[in-house]
Amino acid sequence: MLLPSFQEMLGTLIAEPSVSCACADFDQGNLRVVEHLAGWLEGLGFAVEVLPLPDKPGKGNLIATLGAGDGGLVLAGHTDTVPFDEQGWSLDPFAMTDREDRFYGLGACDMKGFFPVALNAAASFAKAKLKAPLRMVATCDEESSMAGGRFLLDCGKPRAAAAIVGEPTGLQPIHAHKGMALISVQLQGASGHSSNPDIGRNALDAMHGVMGELIRFRAELASQHQNPAFGVAIPTLNLGCLRAGDSPNRICGYAELQIDLRVLPGMDADSLLDALRSRIEAVATAHGTQAALVALNPPVPPFQTSKDGVLVQLLCGKSGKPAGTVCFGTEAPFYQGLGMETVVFGPGSINQAHQPDEYLAQDQIRPAQSALESAIAHYCL
Ligand SMILES: [Zn+2]
Repeated sequence: MLLPSFQEMLGTLIAEPSVSCACADFDQGNLRVVEHLAGWLEGLGFAVEVLPLPDKPGKGNLIATLGAGDGGLVLAGHTDTVPFDEQGWSLDPFAMTDREDRFYGLGACDMKGFFPVALNAAASFAKAKLKAPLRMVATCDEESSMAGGRFLLDCGKPRAAAAIVGEPTGLQPIHAHKGMALISVQLQGASGHSSNPDIGRNALDAMHGVMGELIRFRAELASQHQNPAFGVAIPTLNLGCLRAGDSPNRICGYAELQIDLRVLPGMDADSLLDALRSRIEAVATAHGTQAALVALNPPVPPFQTSKDGVLVQLLCGKSGKPAGTVCFGTEAPFYQGLGMETVVFGPGSINQAHQPDEYLAQDQIRPAQSALESAIAHYCL
């Protein structure tokens, strides 16, 4: 036996907390998860490299390689999970529960469950003579800053002909997703006694104008950009979180609104944000306030690869499902940026991700492994 059982591997990964979160109170490292993966991969004969993330203690990426040379295939996943709310879970989030043909646990489908599937697929080739390398990549911080995926791009590795990003797609090959930018709109006014509006500059009054401008901007985007390949065919702009003021008898001196902008492939989030910034600044200035637009994270680019690509077609053939799109972001644009034909494809459903009692349906595991084995055979044998 080269590897522990599927259950043992998944249970071990779930038992290592690896929450990543923009909120420092919840943020944890991922290196313990990486160590387990590295140990199993070394057992299969992979050469293992851990890339510690600069400025992020306790966090790192793993690149493991079987074979040598150019081309080949990357099987990629992230090792971190989202935070969880204790009250919502009826089970222990950090103990794998095998019940009713499902494996439960935090990260079971998004996406610690992908690794034992990929490891079992790789094990079938551990003794094979590969003509091109098989690489396994495990990143950190996908659920928060995407710093792990971005760092791979900075490092210029891994290189391969193709990459499968094993996010839970219910075994549908995903060839495109939207890009995402989380932005804080900050308005600085001046507080004062509410009995005389003229002695201050009300940031909430200004925010009212800014919100109107954002909603006009959103309508313009929707009228100018549609892509029927997406379930939500237009770019979206969500007004998600407003914080302002402290007391009804004080002029509101400061207001912050957080928004989520999701753009279609082909749209450039950076230039849109520049346009949005000048419009918001104009409104804010008209209200006597100062505006700042601050990206909460660097934007995640949209992703698109041809439906006719070799890997897309191979996975469509194996899964019996047509290539599709999703509205959530992944690390796919970073792998694509490294020159690989990249497809998002993995076991489990996004409907069970980021939820209490997250689970991986067991009937997804065998077909997922078989599809990965076909891809490995195609690119590496
Ligand atoms: Zn994920």
